[in-house]
Amino acid sequence: MRILVTGGAGFIGSHIVDQIVAAGHEAFVVDDLSTGDTSNLPSDVPVFEVDIRNADQLRGVFIAVRPDAVSHQAAQMSVSRSVREPAYDAGVNVMGLLNVLGLALEQNVGRFVFASSGGVLYGDVDAAVPETHPADPISPYGISKWVGERYLQFYAREFGMQSVAMRYANVYGPRQNPHGEAGVVAIFCQKMLRGEQSTINGDGKYIRDYVYGVDVAKANIAALTKDIPSKFEPFNIGTSLPTDTNEIATLIHQECVAFRSDAPLPGRGPARAGDLRSSRIDFGKAQRILGWKPTVDLKDGIHETVAWF
Ligand code: NAD
Repeated sequence: MRILVTGGAGFIGSHIVDQIVAAGHEAFVVDDLSTGDTSNLPSDVPVFEVDIRNADQLRGVFIAVRPDAVSHQAAQMSVSRSVREPAYDAGVNVMGLLNVLGLALEQNVGRFVFASSGGVLYGDVDAAVPETHPADPISPYGISKWVGERYLQFYAREFGMQSVAMRYANVYGPRQNPHGEAGVVAIFCQKMLRGEQSTINGDGKYIRDYVYGVDVAKANIAALTKDIPSKFEPFNIGTSLPTDTNEIATLIHQECVAFRSDAPLPGRGPARAGDLRSSRIDFGKAQRILGWKPTVDLKDGIHETVAWF
């Protein structure tokens, strides 16, 4: 299969490219390199430096690549930037998506896989929730992911496009960008290894579902290649396990001291307005239909991540 990965030079996208190549398919990347980096990619993977908001340039990419499937990872992925600049967020995450979707339809792409977010879609939840849980996004970023899914549903119903929404939990791992949703892992790793003081907001009892980047990439390969029961399906991609900020900080610190014995423990700062108290997702549907489950436990994943940083 020829697979076009938008945002393929980014953290998750580049792991997807690795898995595409490992599975014997051909990968092509479109990325504006705003947060991504070609050093994340194998040197022989073609990269088109194009902004997905530019429909004309994007059409050129689709005509050159003739993809069988699209993995749409490109996004404005900072929740706080979406609050400051909701129009920019919607420009990339809604209008950009519509450009990619429209070209996928025009060029007869067989399957469209979209990076959605289980971390922001469901709002505050005190258990691991399934895909049927009502959506309640509270940030412009969450709203744009939810709107994106609705457009996928529209394209599936109206034009019969096979589409899949991957609702990631908080993804962490090597190549992670400190500005994204699970940026806390990257921020703690960077600061502790530089000997700088990091900060835990409020009481640190903010529960998240941390899932390893390579596991997420493997889920994407299943979504790109396996039989899907209907024209649009959402899948939660997480571990269902609760970890709070205090626990993740301790785990990262334990790994960092192996590289820097004076790595400082984080200090305390004020609570951040709007932070969800608890966010966890149930991956049972992905296990049943995609045959996927997370394989890397948090301790091993943090070990690899700190080593990479
Ligand atoms: P990332 O910033 O590393 O990757 C995003 C990529 O998209 C980057 O390479 C960037 O250069 C590219 N990009 C941004 N705007 C673009 C534009 N206008 N045109 C072309 N390319 C553009 O972030 P990531 O964490 O790898 O996120 C990948 C996807 O997963 C995003 O859609 C994000 O919203 C989603 N997601 C991430 C997480 C997480 O925890 N990291 C959780 C839920 C969903």
